[in-house]
Amino acid sequence: MNILVLNCGSSSLKYQLISMENEEVLAKGICERIGIDGSRIKHTKIGCDTIIIEGDMPSHKDAVKYVVDALVSKEHGVIESMDEINAVGHRIVHGGEEFASSTVINEDVIEAVKKCSDLAPLHNPANLIGIDACKQIMPNVPMVGVFDTAFHQTMPAKTYLYALPYEYYRKYKLRRYGFHGTSHKYVSNRTAEFLGKDIKDMKIVVCHLGNGASVCAVDGGKSIDTSMGLTPLEGLVMGTRSGDMDPAIVQFLADKEGLSIDEINTILNKKSGVLGISEISSDFRDLENAIEEGNEKARLTMDVFSYRVAKYVGAYAAAMNGIDAIAFTAGLGENNAEVRADICSYLTFLGVEIDEEANKCRGIEKDFSAKGAKVKTVVIPTDEEMTIARETARLI
Ligand code: AMP
Repeated sequence: MNILVLNCGSSSLKYQLISMENEEVLAKGICERIGIDGSRIKHTKIGCDTIIIEGDMPSHKDAVKYVVDALVSKEHGVIESMDEINAVGHRIVHGGEEFASSTVINEDVIEAVKKCSDLAPLHNPANLIGIDACKQIMPNVPMVGVFDTAFHQTMPAKTYLYALPYEYYRKYKLRRYGFHGTSHKYVSNRTAEFLGKDIKDMKIVVCHLGNGASVCAVDGGKSIDTSMGLTPLEGLVMGTRSGDMDPAIVQFLADKEGLSIDEINTILNKKSGVLGISEISSDFRDLENAIEEGNEKARLTMDVFSYRVAKYVGAYAAAMNGIDAIAFTAGLGENNAEVRADICSYLTFLGVEIDEEANKCRGIEKDFSAKGAKVKTVVIPTDEEMTIARETARLI
């Protein structure tokens, strides 16, 4: 069985074709600049060089056609015809309170996802366009939606309610939802497997540290708290997002700088975080280079970042009354030993103790706790696409 995993953004479409027999990725790629001049597809047949195909992609439907063409192409393809795509798994960002698990996509599901668009205006419409494009191009291929929010639907009301007038929850479902759920679910399960434990008996904190970043408290396999909220802006310091701050800052900036709410929203989402503090870059690799050159501001930015993560882990130790393991994942969590060590240095009071040598790893599953440490610290590379493919295979 071959599953096509699609992740549609407003002007991009990422894809992977996965053979489920041995969970092997056959090909992957990304269509960029959809609806903009200069659209193109970067396509990789696994084991071969990445190729770039320039192409006219005014819409996502055109992009899906290009993807299928690349997958069946004699030269760069991996299947003979479109009939060898048995199902499509779509990443959908916001499932609101409607979806606590993945689901086969039908008209009712599409309507429900549309209703959640208010909650994720940048993401859900793009996801829906991708679903529509597939419906047109491969009308008989079943589709499954896998939601970023679903894993966190187990959070209790005391976790998800904001201390705002309750009528806003009643009227608009204004509450905390959390994101990166597919990653938190995969990584927490892998952590238990990797450590040879039953997840039902474990209290795990997953630190998904990428350009977008969030922490999740997983108690007995269930998300009981996570750092992102109504939108992915809440919580940790991120590449360009502020994370937690005093809400009164919005009024302050509006008054002082004469900015509109929209402009402030853009600043909080696109110009803050690591980029905002460092005034260098949103990418930690640039920060690492700057630190090596003695740049104090880059050092400070990394300190602010790590401190915030450590505070969340401490809070989740209280939420779960203890922690058995802390798992690090995503671009930074998997690759940056210094950030991992920094975060762990705040947590020795919990019984965290790391093996500095073992921590010198990148992108591999690794237990880097010191011998006998009470709390295990592990690196577990995330695999959101494989999780979407597995969910899709299970449901069809
Ligand atoms: P992600 O959003 O998961 O792709 O993660 C992006 C972040 O991870 C950026 O800040 C990158 O600097 C960092 N990152 C990704 N790959 C590496 C790497 N190989 N070494 C160090 N940092 C990395």
